[in-house]
Amino acid sequence: MEKLDGKKISEKFLFEVKKEVEYLKNRLNKSPVLATVLVGDNPASKVYVSRKIKTCQKVGIGSMDIKLPSSIREGDLLNEIDRLNKNDDVNGILVQLPLPPHIDVEKVISFISPIKDVDGFHPVNLGNLLRGNDSLYPCTPFGIIKLLKEYDIQVEGKNCVIIGRSVIVGKPLALLLLKENGTVTICHSKSKNLKEISKSADILIAAIGKPGFVTPDYVKKGAVVIDVGINSISDKNYAFRIKGEVGLKSIEKKGYLLVGDVEYKTVSNIASYITPVPGGVGPLTISILMENTLKAFKLQRGIKND
Ligand code: NAD
Repeated sequence: MEKLDGKKISEKFLFEVKKEVEYLKNRLNKSPVLATVLVGDNPASKVYVSRKIKTCQKVGIGSMDIKLPSSIREGDLLNEIDRLNKNDDVNGILVQLPLPPHIDVEKVISFISPIKDVDGFHPVNLGNLLRGNDSLYPCTPFGIIKLLKEYDIQVEGKNCVIIGRSVIVGKPLALLLLKENGTVTICHSKSKNLKEISKSADILIAAIGKPGFVTPDYVKKGAVVIDVGINSISDKNYAFRIKGEVGLKSIEKKGYLLVGDVEYKTVSNIASYITPVPGGVGPLTISILMENTLKAFKLQRGIKND
């Protein structure tokens, strides 16, 4: 079994973004700018936004950190996005999800200018993906495709099974795998014979949000296993079973342990390649966000992308 080291690959991608940002800065005296919009004070969202801003700083991308109260009216949030859409100094707009329940998330996402939609969730960008055209692709799924390429894992002709059909991961990933000529099956909470279908996969992707859901009986020998899940657990027995002493220590120290949707210890005995959690898909999501911000900057200036 070989570990798919998302952290290492993400550092490589970030280095490439940094080099190009420096080159463009020397040429144009301008750098890309990402505006992050955080509504309310959800602790996990705060951590995600601060990580994104830190990564911007690391690669020379400017950031605009917009924090709004959870009581904000939908109309006022749309006005804020309108200002960002019209601001030529802003190249990417990221509205951190989830939004408070009184705000219509579909309306907000559709309001972001598609050319600044660095999350790739706007219907225009998803529509381009559906049509097989170039687009700002959703970060997590595109990170997975790029990770497979880095390890020379062929998708063409392979049975790819995705568990999870969210618009953030499962659905766009299915389209990207199709674009690579994979034979794609999407499973979800209502799927029947999930184990049998999963076991037919050459490439199995879990994006469910349930700790350790994928056990060895879901996995064909030699399959490539991609674990998208990020779950915080506090059960010491489970932590010990999944990660041994390291898991126990994490719970004792931090009060929680981050685990994926795949039971890493047991499944790694069967898989040919597997992503760990943390250090697998997660870091790639942020590096693709940086790539998308750079791509948006170039699109807005008519600079050709490679
Ligand atoms: P979601 O809740 O929107 O979707 C979960 C999907 O899992 C649904 O389509 C549902 O049908 C399916 N599902 C649930 N129970 C199932 C079952 N018993 N059998 C089969 N399918 C089942 O979640 P999401 O936003 O796609 O996220 C999934 C996981 O990935 C979460 O843990 C999330 O934190 C993580 N995530 C990680 C990254 C990253 O950067 N690594 C990015 C996005 C999401």
